[in-house]
Amino acid sequence: MSASVIDFIATEARFGARNYEPIGVVLSRGEGVWVWDTEGNRYLDCLSAYSAVSQGHCHPKILAAMVEQAHRLTLTSRAFHNDQLALFYEEIAALTGSHKVLPMNSGAEAVESAIKSVRKWGYEVKGVPDGQAEIIVCANNFHGRTLGVVGFSTDPETRGHFGPFAPGFKVIPFGDAPALAEAINPNTVAFLVEPIQGEAGVVIPPAGYFTEVRELCTANNVMLVLDEIQTGLGRTGKLLAEQHEGIEADVTLLGKALSGGFYPVSAVLSNNDVLGTLRPGQHGSTFGGNPLACAVARAAMRVLVEEGMIENAARQGARFLEGLKDIRANTIRDVRGRGLMLAVELHPEAGRARRYCEALQAKGILAKDTHEHTIRIAPPLVITGDQVDWALERFAAILTQDFS
Ligand SMILES: *Cc1c(COP(=O)(O)O)cnc(C)c1O
Repeated sequence: MSASVIDFIATEARFGARNYEPIGVVLSRGEGVWVWDTEGNRYLDCLSAYSAVSQGHCHPKILAAMVEQAHRLTLTSRAFHNDQLALFYEEIAALTGSHKVLPMNSGAEAVESAIKSVRKWGYEVKGVPDGQAEIIVCANNFHGRTLGVVGFSTDPETRGHFGPFAPGFKVIPFGDAPALAEAINPNTVAFLVEPIQGEAGVVIPPAGYFTEVRELCTANNVMLVLDEIQTGLGRTGKLLAEQHEGIEADVTLLGKALSGGFYPVSAVLSNNDVLGTLRPGQHGSTFGGNPLACAVARAAMRVLVEEGMIENAARQGARFLEGLKDIRANTIRDVRGRGLMLAVELHPEAGRARRYCEALQAKGILAKDTHEHTIRIAPPLVITGDQVDWALERFAAILTQDFS
């Protein structure tokens, strides 16, 4: 490592809150699927900033939209109208088939906003007694880091010593429809769930699960809130992961790739009257729906469709998954994925996934471990077949080593 690399890392450690433990690489440039470190080494990005950079690093059309808008108008607050918000609404509604849109910034804010909205809907439309609304969530969920959200996490690391937490949440196992049926009562306003649990290690529920979930929610007048912040916008090979299940959520949450990684943009989408319960002054955000965010998001959605990234995610995801399954290595316990949301789970005896990620880094691939034994793989959706094969060669080389 050169002196400058050590300096960046040491300075971060000295001044920064140590709430992350990054891999020892300092990045300074990105283009498409590639990123470069300060020493000029090139890496294939197999994390894509947790799927926020699905359109590839520094996509030229999103960049142009951002620069153009930044020259004109960046922030008005919602105290006034701006000439980008209506266009953003129209385009995201057309793309996703939604009727109402609430623009926010981070993913966690979209989750918090959805919780507020479904509770309000519960009291004002469903008729739940005030203060009694319940929301059902799943074990091993990940919905962000705000206080409200970590309060219903089941991960001790995520919630430990951050309480006390707000009541009103009930936890059931993921992928278990009978457990949902049992948990619903007259005060249940919503079921909040990820279509595929990303942070838990790319956990795909059994086939038919979401059909049953949809039926249970409809039968009991419970809002189905799908957190598609990670699975949405093409990551799984469809625009929304719900399309694999042939269902429609009542409320859909988007974030991450909604800006192609340029800017924090999130949105709550609903196809019924949930968002309609919010009246002026009852919810807001200084930056939510700002013209810069809207211009960036419009371009990010446009290139996703125009450049065939969703179809490419399906095609290259299948190639990647097949290639990973072909690797014969006794370090591998399971390989799974949908589209370009993939994971390799290692046998516990094979050693920590972190060691494999560090070895991949030395071979020019950046990937991230999750939960000790799982390597998550989520490259930008613009990856080519040759690049997938290039990555597979390196994964094969590393996974046949033993780091235990
Ligand atoms: C990343 C993520 C969030 C939180 O998004 P932030 O922008 O980090 O607040 C919420 N839900 C899911 C499923 C995510 O992957």
